[in-house]
Amino acid sequence: MLFFLALLSLFDLKMWESLDIAMKEMTREMDYITLVADGQRGIPKKCPCGQPIYHDISKIEGDLGNRYFTCKAYKNDRFHWRVPWFYGVEEEFDKLTEQIDEQNQKLSGLETQLKQMSEELKNQRGVIAKLKELVEQVVKNIFDGW
Ligand SMILES: [Zn+2]
Repeated sequence: MLFFLALLSLFDLKMWESLDIAMKEMTREMDYITLVADGQRGIPKKCPCGQPIYHDISKIEGDLGNRYFTCKAYKNDRFHWRVPWFYGVEEEFDKLTEQIDEQNQKLSGLETQLKQMSEELKNQRGVIAKLKELVEQVVKNIFDGW
């Protein structure tokens, strides 16, 4: 322990602080790059940098005519989105298909619930009709006795 403290005292505290700041900055940058790399699915609406996405058709030789969903502030620095059109559309299609499946499952559950509630309502109407008859009979018996 003393050896460690002695070793620590050899270094300037400011150097440790600046190293700590640099590490935090690097971690934040890596988190952002990970977000940009993994955070996109489907047709993007807005880049992680906050800029809107537009439909771009490449005018670059060798890539001429290819379509992309591109950030307005796009630079090839891994901080912005430039998604090939067919990837974006394919992922969007998959996403929408999953949403439709989820909605169908929810709808199926609601249909089952509706059938149960309709059956319960039918039973309750039967009970109410019997009670109504009973009340009418009781009222009739009371007035007939007079
Ligand atoms: Zn961007």
